[in-house]
Amino acid sequence: MEKKYAGIAAPLLRWFAQNKRDLPWRQDKEPYHVWISEIMLQQTRIEAVMKYYARFMEALPDVQSLSAVADDTLLKLWEGLGYYSRARNLKKAAQAIMTDYGGVFPDNYEALRRLAGIGDYTAGAIASICFGERVPAVDGNVLRVLSRLTGSRDNVLLPETKKAVTADLRAVMPEQAGDFNEALMELGETVCLPNGFPLCGECPLREQCTAYRQNLTAELPVRIKKQKRRREDKTVLLLIADDGDIALEKRPDSGLLSGMYQLPNIEGFLEEAALRETLTSRDLRPSEIVFLRETKHVFTHIDWFMRGWRVRVHHKPEGFLWVSPRELQENYALPTAFRKLLKES
Ligand code: SF4
Repeated sequence: MEKKYAGIAAPLLRWFAQNKRDLPWRQDKEPYHVWISEIMLQQTRIEAVMKYYARFMEALPDVQSLSAVADDTLLKLWEGLGYYSRARNLKKAAQAIMTDYGGVFPDNYEALRRLAGIGDYTAGAIASICFGERVPAVDGNVLRVLSRLTGSRDNVLLPETKKAVTADLRAVMPEQAGDFNEALMELGETVCLPNGFPLCGECPLREQCTAYRQNLTAELPVRIKKQKRRREDKTVLLLIADDGDIALEKRPDSGLLSGMYQLPNIEGFLEEAALRETLTSRDLRPSEIVFLRETKHVFTHIDWFMRGWRVRVHHKPEGFLWVSPRELQENYALPTAFRKLLKES
């Protein structure tokens, strides 16, 4: 079976040899330099990193000085870069290099990966660039290039996509692993630009690129953010009339549980006094109000927290559908979220 990224190494390496930018941390492939620059680049653009990098190296030129720096000094040096935990992890990792490795930078992916703040990408970058280990270094730039290259619609924000790309890339890593990884990153940063405006005319992979050929560069890569869960609090009413009928309402025709029946409910948690007031305003004069219990119901992106109350009323005002418990059982689909409260009544 043909390897997924077969044939990209040679044109990439040729392109990189002619086009690579002259960046300070590239001059000597010193692991300390590559490490600090990679951590800084995780949150800031290259142009901005230059000045932070120079300031940092002047104050802390090696692992030893970083391991011994006072926290305040370190945080001051990191000021403007944000994500201060990254600076703290740098110091932690430097201390581990001093104590566990005698001050010598670990020279392989596995050992690097165990240091504080060094993830798959950074370990791959240092191991390949500084020690020639044939391991991939996959970041957002690389994922963008490769998704477009193959026309992949896999969501690049999912860890499984990154894992699959890493495995496929591993199969085509050339001898010059560091240059290959840097070339891919550089191509993503300078040519295969995000937001649908890549400079395909300058790209060494143009001939092989699916997105270019099929005009898909604006659609790829696919980035679907996981939706945040939302919490909704509800006061739910089990309204029971003197004849035993129970009040239902119909939910709106669109949205969650659309068109289904529900127990009447009010947004938020109401205490008994406020609840009594609300009921009176809706022409429901309660003869009894009893708190039942609190339940939680989990939907795909919403959690309902419900406090249920049993409310007995003498008459049945309009605006509700009044049904007997038997009718409710046989003819009305009441969502589970509400059935839980019925059981308690
Ligand atoms: S041809 Fe265009 S879209 Fe394809 S990898 Fe190159 S720059 Fe990206």
